[in-house]
Amino acid sequence: MLSKINLDLLDLKKNNLFRQLYETERFDGVHINRNGKRLISFSCNDYLGLSQNEQIKTAAIVAIEKYGVGSGASRFVTGNTTLYQELEEKLAKMKATDDAIVFGSGYLANIGVIPALVGKEDVIIADKLIHACMLDGAKLSGAKLIRFSHNSVDKCEELLKKHRNSFKNCLILTEHVFSMDGDVAPISELYSLAEKYNACLMTDDAHGFGILASQKAHLQMGTLSKAVGCYGGYVCASKDIIEYLRNKSRSLIYSTALPPSVLASASQSLQIIDQNIGKPCKALQNAQYFCEILGLAKAQSSIVPLILGDEQKAIVASQMLEEAGFLVSAIRPPTVPKNTARLRFTFSSLHSRENIDNIAKFIRLNFSKFSI
Ligand SMILES: *Cc1c(COP(=O)(O)O)cnc(C)c1O
Repeated sequence: MLSKINLDLLDLKKNNLFRQLYETERFDGVHINRNGKRLISFSCNDYLGLSQNEQIKTAAIVAIEKYGVGSGASRFVTGNTTLYQELEEKLAKMKATDDAIVFGSGYLANIGVIPALVGKEDVIIADKLIHACMLDGAKLSGAKLIRFSHNSVDKCEELLKKHRNSFKNCLILTEHVFSMDGDVAPISELYSLAEKYNACLMTDDAHGFGILASQKAHLQMGTLSKAVGCYGGYVCASKDIIEYLRNKSRSLIYSTALPPSVLASASQSLQIIDQNIGKPCKALQNAQYFCEILGLAKAQSSIVPLILGDEQKAIVASQMLEEAGFLVSAIRPPTVPKNTARLRFTFSSLHSRENIDNIAKFIRLNFSKFSI
């Protein structure tokens, strides 16, 4: 065992795939401190800067004063404060579904929901690029997993035609906004396919919620940790599906309820997001502005990838940006497919035009060797 660990670690280092944790402090939604240096972050998923919002911070403080810090037990024992109900009602309303259920995190939602819905006699048809936690949920379920090429409605239909009838139930999985590519899935077409082939469509809206309008699906899963700026996961769906998940999701039943302060802050955050629905989203506009000045394809979300291919290139590019005062993470396999290592830029509504002009200028002047 020990020699395997040592060999694997060496291998990771040799292949530029070794991961390290760096102490990072965030202050205002744009700036962070790392290695004693202040950087402008283009790596947070706090797209609306709500993690630093005064009203939302106050909601958490008030809840701590009132209820204490931890929730004491699973939601089924003592953890189910009224704050859950308020939060779930807001989520269902914003997603235009009958009901919603909140999990400990987005990861816990995906690994709880998918195995609750499908099992050995069933099939999962999934986009090639779905997030690791949807994949983990799919593997845990024991269902047959088949993948279609990224965002291809035709390939998805081909698989449905070929395999649907050999299985009892069928779940189609995709993301709304893909976390490492920033592009948007053809959700309404996939929903029509699901209806046509007697399947269920489940979308992961971790990166769309708060940025783009919600898209109808049989289950809309998401997280409260990104644009919402807090913590927790959720699923919005019909009354029956939610009731079923409440009874069958092991990651809901066998895990402690979220701290009341987290629920209160998420609720306050949703209220702010809801009040701004329909207004132009500055995080999206910022991403589009960045693409425009660098001559990149128009951003569809607040995420913009710059694919460099080689892991070493991505690491060097990220280090160069860091030296210039910008935090942009290098994303490597297995998070993304082989030979597609990249820089992943995320934009916040709190970035100024000047912040974006500066990073774009740096890229233009220094990245010609990466043939950008
Ligand atoms: C972040 C993320 C999750 C996990 O959500 P957490 O609340 O952070 O556990 C799930 N799916 C996608 C696509 C994500 O990007």
